[in-house]
Amino acid sequence: NKQILLKSYINGSPSESDMELKLGNHIKLEAPTGSNGVLVKNLYLSCDPYMRGRMQNFQASYVPPFSPNSVIEGFGVSKVVDSDDPNFKKGEIVTGLTNWEEYSLILNTNQLRKIQQDDDIPLSYHVGLLGMPGFTAYAGFFEVCAPKKGDYVYVSAASGAVGQLVGQLAKLHGCYVVGSAGTSHKVQLLKNKLGFDEAFNYKEESDLEAALARYFPHGIDIYFDNVGGSMLDAALANMRVQGRVAICGMVSQNSRTDKQSFRNMFSVISKRITIKGFLQSDFMQLYPRFLEDITHYYKQGKIVYIENMNDGLESAPAAFVGLFSGKNVGKQVIRVASE
Ligand code: NDP
Repeated sequence: NKQILLKSYINGSPSESDMELKLGNHIKLEAPTGSNGVLVKNLYLSCDPYMRGRMQNFQASYVPPFSPNSVIEGFGVSKVVDSDDPNFKKGEIVTGLTNWEEYSLILNTNQLRKIQQDDDIPLSYHVGLLGMPGFTAYAGFFEVCAPKKGDYVYVSAASGAVGQLVGQLAKLHGCYVVGSAGTSHKVQLLKNKLGFDEAFNYKEESDLEAALARYFPHGIDIYFDNVGGSMLDAALANMRVQGRVAICGMVSQNSRTDKQSFRNMFSVISKRITIKGFLQSDFMQLYPRFLEDITHYYKQGKIVYIENMNDGLESAPAAFVGLFSGKNVGKQVIRVASE
């Protein structure tokens, strides 16, 4: 059973050498009697930026840290090989937290969700469009941003797993949407495939405040912030009166020792801006509605979803590290095995 382990706690950006492929032990492909668990074959594993937070011993985080020298845990799509839980049967496909390994014994089966296979929807979408990142976009946009038709919306890390859906939902809601991303290829995708009104490469802008002023001559009503740092500061300066900022992520602030000074906080007062941080897990009651709405939109061709698929468990460390340099184009997924 091949596994990917975290070697030790990290500081700053993760690197491939922080993780290690272990050939692992022979395991019996069965869920032990009395365990109430399921033994699964992992098909797809998700690389998500929040996992970096689990790679440091920072107890105040919203998820507990991994243990050094232990297999990495993350979201996945898996096939049940054996079950000691009457709610799951051999052959069923499930999604939820699993481990970065070929086969996993999952004891906490309450968090697993069964997937009804549908020829029109790739299984891997259950860790992306229909999984945690998609839900983050849906809950964050509708519940935190309080969108209105005609609002001017700005999304950072806009081509990523979360951002690409935020922008498309905002368009469906009748908003004007601008996204930023870190390469010209991503900018093209935002404009030509994902339907953003405008997009720009933030790495080519020496003055982010001026860039946003150019794209939003009337100001920003909603900023969906995936990155934090200097982009957040620049957005504050460009917000409209009564604007809303949803703080979703801080991927630019990798190390807690990074120092970010804000120059534009006074805008929060002068423009009566609402800034709200959120966790997708606060909105779990909306999950069934999210699945229904997004499946419907997808099947109607109203939204698309871009994935960055890498093959083989061995590719997981590099793919994960790539999230922090913008290597991924769309939702980063690892294909571990075929069904
Ligand atoms: P992405 O698929 O967008 O991947 C991360 C992207 O972030 C990269 O592709 C890169 O894109 C961008 N990035 C990396 N480093 C930097 C940097 N230093 N400055 C600016 N941009 C950078 O990730 P997700 O869509 O999965 O996640 C987006 C954000 O949402 C993350 O901050 C994540 O932690 C957060 N999140 C929050 C949740 C919540 O409940 N609050 C739940 C899920 C995610 P580019 O090339 O454009 O720079």
